[in-house]
Amino acid sequence: MLATMLYAPGDVRVEERDEPVIQKPTDAILRLTATCICGSDLWPFRGLNDVSSPMAMGHEYCGVVVAVGSDVKTVKPGQFVVGSFVLSDNTCPHCRHGFQSSCEQREFMTGGQAEYARVPLADGTLIATDTMPDDDLIPSLLAASDVLGTGWYAADAARVQSGSTVVVVGDGAVGLMGVLAAKQLGAHRIIAMSRHKSRQDLALDYGATDIIAERGDEGVARVKELTQRIGADAVLECVGTQESMQTAINCARPGSMIGYVGVPHGVQFDGQALFFSQTGMIGGPAPVRRFLPHLLDLILTRQINPGRVFDLELPLADAAEGYRAMDERRAIKTLLRP
Ligand SMILES: [Zn+2]
Repeated sequence: MLATMLYAPGDVRVEERDEPVIQKPTDAILRLTATCICGSDLWPFRGLNDVSSPMAMGHEYCGVVVAVGSDVKTVKPGQFVVGSFVLSDNTCPHCRHGFQSSCEQREFMTGGQAEYARVPLADGTLIATDTMPDDDLIPSLLAASDVLGTGWYAADAARVQSGSTVVVVGDGAVGLMGVLAAKQLGAHRIIAMSRHKSRQDLALDYGATDIIAERGDEGVARVKELTQRIGADAVLECVGTQESMQTAINCARPGSMIGYVGVPHGVQFDGQALFFSQTGMIGGPAPVRRFLPHLLDLILTRQINPGRVFDLELPLADAAEGYRAMDERRAIKTLLRP
């Protein structure tokens, strides 16, 4: 089968690999319908994470089950499934508290940018749809696997509720999904920080009420202007740099919550500044599994269309071009068709 491997920064190859097989009784094997490239895949692509040996890339996936291990009970061959990018048993204490991304048996999905993939902990990770979904829903269903679930978690962690004033820091795919989530959760005002016209337009379509193109202190000053100097009730941090994190903290009003889902790279916190900011923070890898049933329902009943975040679609064989397009910001997010 074809699979996407990262050999070194900038060196993505789609090559023939052995098809995955059941290794544990809790595994499932999927024939992937669609997969995609994540913003976090760009960290090793850009050399910001170590690449010691060829990495099997891809953790966002949906497809049809072709085989299951002997212990798997909730999915069966022939079913269409969507799974979280974090593999979880969905039974341990952390899972039962809704933090499947800190599951005691947690693993991170790999090898999803391929024709077939092995999904460990299938029962606790995958959700099957009742019927085979229409093809035009595939991008949105795929989005639920990570990017939508992560944006949703940012809004949930930031305690967005009916009437909230929300700031979304970051106009990547996750930030745009954060806008969609904030709208669904009833936010009254959604301020999206974005400098790129195409992303601003999509943010507005997803429910943003205001766009701020300025960054850093200037961006914070604009948020303060728009909120009568109060700041936001909820802030979604969707980048992971020092500047974006500082912007998020500075935009948040006392008593507010910050949901931070950009994987921090080189971010330092100032204890006294946090103390006096009087803001709360929850971040980390999104417990997508908690939200998946609701998100799939919203998609299958066509209430949301997160799949629009994919503005480039390529055959799996052209994955390297998909990485370059995202790295050079020619594309927001690349969908790959095996
Ligand atoms: Zn668990």
